Amino acid sequence: MVKTHLYVFGIFKILEPVKLEFNTKCVHYQQPPDSESGSVIPPLSLSTTFDQSAQSELKYFYGRGENPTREQLEHCLAGIEGSGKALTYSSGQAAANAVLDLLKPGDEFISSDDVYGGTLGLFDLAKSSRKLIYQQVDTSNYDELEASINSQTKLIWIESPTNPMLKVTDIQRVCDLASRHGIKVLVDNTFCTPYLQTCMDLGADFVLYSTSKFISGHGDAIGGALVCKDEYFNTLFSNRTVTGAIPSPFDCYIIHRGIKTLGLRLDKQCENAKLIAEFLKQSNKVGKIYYPGLDCHPQYELASRQMRKSGALISFEYHGNVEKLLHGLSLFHCAVSLGTVFSLIECPALMTHRNIPRSLKVKLGLNDNLIRLAIGIEDPDDLIQDLTPFFS
Ligand code: PLP
Repeated sequence: MVKTHLYVFGIFKILEPVKLEFNTKCVHYQQPPDSESGSVIPPLSLSTTFDQSAQSELKYFYGRGENPTREQLEHCLAGIEGSGKALTYSSGQAAANAVLDLLKPGDEFISSDDVYGGTLGLFDLAKSSRKLIYQQVDTSNYDELEASINSQTKLIWIESPTNPMLKVTDIQRVCDLASRHGIKVLVDNTFCTPYLQTCMDLGADFVLYSTSKFISGHGDAIGGALVCKDEYFNTLFSNRTVTGAIPSPFDCYIIHRGIKTLGLRLDKQCENAKLIAEFLKQSNKVGKIYYPGLDCHPQYELASRQMRKSGALISFEYHGNVEKLLHGLSLFHCAVSLGTVFSLIECPALMTHRNIPRSLKVKLGLNDNLIRLAIGIEDPDDLIQDLTPFFS
């Protein structure tokens, strides 16, 4: 059972079980004042090595394996997820790779057909260098998903909502289906974070985060994290120590600092995104629009049930000059990434998803005029004013 220390009226109280709301956990969970100095922000521990005779209980050996700043971030991540254990990595890709590394040559896995372009690159590398076999299906089509399972299938890899088509999969339904077949499930929850959906509660074995996105939130740290069922922790921990895919203590500190405002930022980003999606929907320059918070979204009901709010990503077909739109806005940076306090615009076919096969792009409807917006925390009137000349 997870324990936490909460500093109340000058004494430490151990609360068990933890019953704090999300924003309180983000600020206080596992963050007692430093016992030496009283510092309310945990000290940044840059040391690469640790004197063994100075430790009352031997815990820290070498920074590649153990580091106090990294541990504080990991405890906080596990705390806001609500269950499981957390490990952090040097990037989202390194975290994803750590799970693929648990599979053996010849093992098969199934992934959502619409995933981050870099994830597909990782799958291709695992296929060529480690002889893993993967197939991509529409994981929101449960018959198609079940039909694609065979005796070698070990893992189902879901993004929900997907990147960039924002398709929503019923995570609990997939976890139930997988568990009937003895298969593990990984959910890449980068778009939602535990604030919008807690995938461990829905039955996932692994939850993947690019902490470079909403979790850190300010576009100034690259990192990744896994939250996993307890049984996988020791293997993942020792694999990480051996391979060395760790984030720096400074990045851990920055990411941990970002978490303190995660709920506040996402509230604002989701509110802004809803207003912008409604604005875009009215424009005759917009064809198909994909946003789980619009009632025209095919999985609107599921998204409303599964997600606390509808997220801060919007994709749409633009019936205007794509180049002019990408480079003509003042407040939206034309750049990859998402989940930052500032808004971003990109064209997936030319940018984040440029390397995926043409046939898959056609199947998904990932056309050259598909635009993805990642909405920040700016004032929505300013964002809409910036967009207006390109949509009237
Ligand atoms: N997963 C998703 C959904 C992403 O969007 C990204 C990056 O854009 C990643 C994983 C990879 O994360 P990182 O860039 O931190 O390696």
